[in-house]
Amino acid sequence: MDRFVYAFTEGGRDMAALLGGKGANLAEMTLLGLPVPPGFTVTTEACRVFLDTGAEPDGLAREISDHLTALEQTAGRRLGQPDDPLLLSVRSGARFSMPGMMETILDIGLNDASVLGLAKSSGNERFAWDSYRRLVQMFGSTVMGVDTARFEHVMGDIKRARGAASDLDLDAADLAGLVEAYKELIRQETGDDFPQSPAEQLRRAVLAVFESWNGERARLYRRREHIPEDLGTAVNVQTMVFGNLGPDSGSGVAFTRDPATGQPGLYGDYLPNAQGEDVVAGIRNTVPIRELEERYPTSYAQLRDHMRTLETHYRDLCDIEFTVEHGRLWMLQTRVGKRAAEAAFAIAAELVDEGLISPDEGLARVSGDGLARLMFPRFDTSAVGDALAHGLPASPGAAVGAAVFDSAEAVRRAAAGEKVVLVRQETTPDDLPGMIAAQAVLTSRGGKTSHAAVVARGMGKVCVCGAEELLVDTEARRFTTRDGTVVEEGTVVSADGFDGSVYLGAAPLVDSTVMRYFETGERSAGLVESVARAMERADGVRRLEVRANADTPEDAALARRFGAQGVGLCRTEHMFLGERRKLVEAMILARNDTEREEALNALLPLQRQDFVGILEAMDGLPVTVRLIDPPLHEFLPDRTDLAVRIATAEARGDVPDPHDTELLEAVNRMHEENPMLGLRGVRLGLVVPGLVAMQVRAIAEAVVERTRAGGFPEAEIMVPLVGAVEELRIEREEVERVLAEVSAESGIPVHCPVGTMIELPRAALTAGRIAEEAEFFSFGTNDLTQTTWGFSRDDVEAAFFSAYLDKGIFATSPFEAIDRAGVGRLVQIAVAEGRAARPELKIGVCGEHGGDPDSVHFFHAAGLDYVSCSPFRVPVARLEAGRAAL
Ligand code: PEP
Ligand code: MG
Repeated sequence: MDRFVYAFTEGGRDMAALLGGKGANLAEMTLLGLPVPPGFTVTTEACRVFLDTGAEPDGLAREISDHLTALEQTAGRRLGQPDDPLLLSVRSGARFSMPGMMETILDIGLNDASVLGLAKSSGNERFAWDSYRRLVQMFGSTVMGVDTARFEHVMGDIKRARGAASDLDLDAADLAGLVEAYKELIRQETGDDFPQSPAEQLRRAVLAVFESWNGERARLYRRREHIPEDLGTAVNVQTMVFGNLGPDSGSGVAFTRDPATGQPGLYGDYLPNAQGEDVVAGIRNTVPIRELEERYPTSYAQLRDHMRTLETHYRDLCDIEFTVEHGRLWMLQTRVGKRAAEAAFAIAAELVDEGLISPDEGLARVSGDGLARLMFPRFDTSAVGDALAHGLPASPGAAVGAAVFDSAEAVRRAAAGEKVVLVRQETTPDDLPGMIAAQAVLTSRGGKTSHAAVVARGMGKVCVCGAEELLVDTEARRFTTRDGTVVEEGTVVSADGFDGSVYLGAAPLVDSTVMRYFETGERSAGLVESVARAMERADGVRRLEVRANADTPEDAALARRFGAQGVGLCRTEHMFLGERRKLVEAMILARNDTEREEALNALLPLQRQDFVGILEAMDGLPVTVRLIDPPLHEFLPDRTDLAVRIATAEARGDVPDPHDTELLEAVNRMHEENPMLGLRGVRLGLVVPGLVAMQVRAIAEAVVERTRAGGFPEAEIMVPLVGAVEELRIEREEVERVLAEVSAESGIPVHCPVGTMIELPRAALTAGRIAEEAEFFSFGTNDLTQTTWGFSRDDVEAAFFSAYLDKGIFATSPFEAIDRAGVGRLVQIAVAEGRAARPELKIGVCGEHGGDPDSVHFFHAAGLDYVSCSPFRVPVARLEAGRAAL
């Protein structure tokens, strides 16, 4: 038969799934011989049964009663014994810490008789009645469902009647009166009496903690922290000890090191004459733990010894809650403590130095997310006020600047030395100059793979997108917040790309030394040294290579400094923007082959120069150049703008500009309802004569130029959006033809591997066939996610993902972390079939997921050769690739 209850002497830290984190660690401390008030843990399994069936699991009551008897025997007192009661605390404790999210009930065992016994045994009448009123209040609200505010109301009435400023001014008689008033309140509200039977109190408290697993707060917390819904909580039943018995008692929390910086040394807060709950609730001001040292050196020395024991045993930063009862120290809880990113790196390095953990363990203790946080300047969160609005944190960092509402204004002000934040409903490629000029991009629409998000991330620029509560009025050059605050152009705002907050005014910033290290290679003591060591370890153990998505020589050079081992995706369409757009327009509008050829010939040298620059920046390393991908009409002016221009001219009685008329015809001809599913990728190459040939020639001639200059160019040519091997075969013939042509003309043999993106389900499912024509695969997981789920990557995140996240359909956007079960499955199939057909097939990923920590682990496990991500994510990907290999 299943067991549902374990005494603290029976468990251990490796039983956290069953006993919850708190229960497992209480057991571990008990085993270590630390002073833990005795108790037992009801398992998460019991909770799951209760939540599934709505009934108390069979046998649970018996087991609890047996463990209680054992506890009573050890204590030499019975639960609620009238003359000297044993009292218990009942606390939740899930597998993953959910601080304050579930219920706690203290002082179980008090009733009208035992409160008198407690008064006598403690010699403190006020304390006894205060404990009793706390129990009635906690039990009444948590177990019996009376609104907490009603209790506060009653307390308020009594305080007023007594002229008392605080609870502390109420004496024993007042508190006894309060207990009566509370009991009456419960009777009125529920029709039931507060139970006098200690056993019943205990039983109902345990079930109430089970139920609190599904409380609103707890559910919300789990969603945000990605904690599974079905784990359930354990319940810890423990002998009460009291920190509020007078000046020689108290409660505190302590860390074995500073959790913000990692500095070694006992660190924490102490509250004399108080229960633990008072410390956490921040009711009274705590004193630094040093004060305990001054007042009670023996307790302090014990605490220090126990903390050392814990840190050596857990081989990590531990935090604890403790209580001192009449000078005697009790350990109430410990766990491996949460810490800031900076502290994580510092502690890992130090514990390695101290020989407590191996370098690999040190690497396991830090994270890519933490590293990302350390790479950007941050807002000093202690100094910012309320946020104006919240959006999606699409690209991390902290930026301050004057709000501007179009690209030209951004460029103008930036040129004059002003820092600006570009605010748009959403961005388009036209906004690029403004985005480059801005410190941050803020949009009211679009998700984490919207144009603004992808481009900003690529530039390492702060981006908060999809802040739907903002009403952006580009015409009037202002935005309005939900509460009606109007922010005019030029007003300084601060955008926090870590959590999506937007503030009015300039929030104070803290600079990143870690970023300087990646940019310059300069090492310095402290944090930077710890980061450098983690990076070295990661590079030493990782199997995955890390490349960068880069479209310019500057990005490529930056990525290389950040440790990129090549370019995994050069999006050539990004090279068609700005002034060159006119040339692309001419190519699209060409009425015959000659005109088209002219337009293409004008583009050729420009493209070649781009490639020369990138190949030079990545000399000796592979550069994957992707042939043009997006629908051509993206390079034409906006349809509505044109129509309006023509209609206005006509209304004035003028003849519309013939160029406008011609453009509109072209735009109409090329208009697609679903451009993402339309004429783009390989399809463009197959239907627009000369386009591929021009691009391949530019690549090949760049290779020749670099070779002649003594370089080692390693260009790879990648065909996007292939769904059928036939598409690739035809395109590839064209590619090979041009490569051969340039080789013959130049006398320099140009060998470029030709591969394909796998970004359509059909490509993944027919990967074996496609591999016959492809020398490498690169998963375009942005499109693959879009097409697998049927989610428009530009729309859905802002439109309804928050509802999907709320409903728990997924815990993270599939555009952010790879959907392992669906998209991931397609990746696995394509890897297996691709390699079966061509064992030496090189496989990478270049969608946004390439820089996402969780996804990097998946790609490692799936057997990919490399991930490619934006330059600023390269260190994160290196670190996570190392951790994945542990
Ligand atoms: C992809 O689809 O994942 C990809 C890298 O291509 P793009 O984002 O340019 O469509
Ligand atoms: Mg794509």
